[in-house]
Amino acid sequence: MDTTIFPTSKMGFGCMRLPLTDENDPKSIDLPQFTQMVDLFMEAGNTYFDTAFVYHEGESEVALGQALVARYPRESFTIATKCLAWAMPDKQAAQACLDVSLKRLGIAYVDYFLLHNVGGQRTAKFDEYDMWAYAQQQKAAGKVRFVGFSIHDDADCLDALLKEHPEMDFVQLQVNYLDWDDPVNEARRLVEVAKAHGKPVIIMEPARGGRLCDLPAEAAAVLATAKPGSTQAEWAYRFCWNLPDVIAVLSGMSTVEQARENLASYAANEPFSPAERAALDQAIASLRALTSVPCTACNYCVKGCPAGVKIPQIMGLLNLEAMTGDHEFVKGLYSWQAAEGKASTCIKCGLCETMCPQQIDIINQLEAAADCYE
Ligand code: SF4
Ligand code: SF4
Repeated sequence: MDTTIFPTSKMGFGCMRLPLTDENDPKSIDLPQFTQMVDLFMEAGNTYFDTAFVYHEGESEVALGQALVARYPRESFTIATKCLAWAMPDKQAAQACLDVSLKRLGIAYVDYFLLHNVGGQRTAKFDEYDMWAYAQQQKAAGKVRFVGFSIHDDADCLDALLKEHPEMDFVQLQVNYLDWDDPVNEARRLVEVAKAHGKPVIIMEPARGGRLCDLPAEAAAVLATAKPGSTQAEWAYRFCWNLPDVIAVLSGMSTVEQARENLASYAANEPFSPAERAALDQAIASLRALTSVPCTACNYCVKGCPAGVKIPQIMGLLNLEAMTGDHEFVKGLYSWQAAEGKASTCIKCGLCETMCPQQIDIINQLEAAADCYE
């Protein structure tokens, strides 16, 4: 593994949810507050900033250029940005993204260039637009130091992609303590696949989109008792910070207070003690007890489905809502995780139910999901 790919600190500043001056306008980044957050982050010895062509409709890159690039020596920080090629109208537009990002940021090269959200049918667009070879050409030309991709798909998909693209330097994966042994999101398997291919990992969603910072009462009480004064965010981040072969753990910070809190947690970071680990396992078990559908994501139901319904993913989302109680968040996930196989496309043939070893009433569950999320 190329060790020059590792920044000096695993603490990553995610620039997807920056502070705004007008909460209805995603472009209205509060630059003075963001600048203060950047300064706190840099003063604490951290270097990794994560943005993307599409964050804040392009203004995330612009703001990072102003708050960071224009104010610090280039060698004192690293930047990751991403190209959402599958959302672009054609190859020319997709391949123009990197130059636009470099211009917005005010840099001659980006440290980490990611093909953004590969997986599912989106992969075909990266192929069609020749983005894999394009990224390597930009690396050879000195505009990119390391090339990787982010993915929300399963471990088999990750394995297939890394077999096809061994030239990738790293991968960005959704990893957190709730998804670690989750049968649908299988974060542990994703990390194991990356390791088997010798690829270091950038972690996204370490707090599951903030859901692990707002736990149900029982899980919250377990963690608070195990370490009085700790924050729920700290438990989520410590789980990820202490995993091996991790380049960075993204923390999407939106206020100065959040930045201060996360930086203090990182400074005090240490692996879980046996008692803390047991408490975390107890909290996870109490969250899992809230799930409503006993789906193990075995995928048996999917093979014969004439409508291509994303059954395990949809069962997983129903369970996620049961665990977190956050309808809007799960609805947002459904809008893209089930986009290529919505619950409403089920024709009620019943084949899946004959295949399900858990005897789940899949058709009823899909009706509930369609009512809830579509
Ligand atoms: S009942 Fe619906 S989900 Fe199940 S196999 Fe038939 S079409 Fe697919
Ligand atoms: S067959 Fe049943 S348990 Fe297996 S993935 Fe489908 S719904 Fe889940």
